[in-house]
Amino acid sequence: MADPECTVINTDVKQKDLSEALVIAVTTRAIFSLEEEHKLYLEKGKEEYTRHQQANQDKPLPPGTAFAFIQAVQHVNKKILESNPAEKDLFDILVLSNNSPESGVRIINSAKHYGLEISKFCFVSNEDSTQYLKSHGVKLFLSADRTDVCNALQRGVSAALVFQQEVQAPSTPLRVVFDGDAVLFSNETDQIFQEQGLEEAVQYEQAMEDVPMGEGPLKAFAMHLGKIRKKFSQEKSPIRTYLVTARSGRDMGIRAIKTLREWGLEIDEAFFMDGAPKGPILAQIQPHIFFDDGLHNIQGARNVGVPSAWVPSCR
Ligand SMILES: [Mg+2]
Repeated sequence: MADPECTVINTDVKQKDLSEALVIAVTTRAIFSLEEEHKLYLEKGKEEYTRHQQANQDKPLPPGTAFAFIQAVQHVNKKILESNPAEKDLFDILVLSNNSPESGVRIINSAKHYGLEISKFCFVSNEDSTQYLKSHGVKLFLSADRTDVCNALQRGVSAALVFQQEVQAPSTPLRVVFDGDAVLFSNETDQIFQEQGLEEAVQYEQAMEDVPMGEGPLKAFAMHLGKIRKKFSQEKSPIRTYLVTARSGRDMGIRAIKTLREWGLEIDEAFFMDGAPKGPILAQIQPHIFFDDGLHNIQGARNVGVPSAWVPSCR
């Protein structure tokens, strides 16, 4: 069901079943590099911005931070359909934009230029575009705007903020890296660590070893991704998932592993960094996207050219 404020333009020939699909919503500034245009919008206003976008509507926008991720997701769809042409449990990409339909022509043309299969472009002039996420069954929302991301998280939708950065296009399979605390898991142990120190946090973890951790903001998306991941054997999977956490494996690893097992979430590889920088291991993995709540980790990832998405705590 389309919302009245949402102009829906179908460019995708394969109609997916939205009740089964893993719907990912990206904003235009997350998928394309629109920094210059955004500056123009802020400095000269909407009219000037629209004029510029209309004058350049046939000029494709350069790829943005989430571009490689969306391309890799599309590759997974191809692999799923190769093994089962009737499969409906696919990824579905929706572009959510604060552009007007007039300035949005360039966005649609850019998506077509790169061969991106995007089923819907929603040009919503409404200030809080995240109100449409639930009605479109969105399981992951990527935006370049912190308010957007916090609104989505408060609506219970997995969401993260992407900063504009130079991104190398990694090869397939789709590789997704999750941080543990305050991303996949709740921030309960983080809070004890911050308030009482490492020793107390370790003791808490050992006492709570058999109690699964609470769910973090990205758990719902990780579970859906895991469901698609299970369609394939480990060797043939077009998706690889990773946990890269600051936890030490010796003192704080067991509860994390037990929690994932309890959830039925299979992760291909887990790295317990014991507080070491994550940049070097991320440079080796070369993920299409890396989710973390720590800005120092996000910076470390950006320094090695890894597309990163920040999961803010919105208080
Ligand atoms: Mg964390």
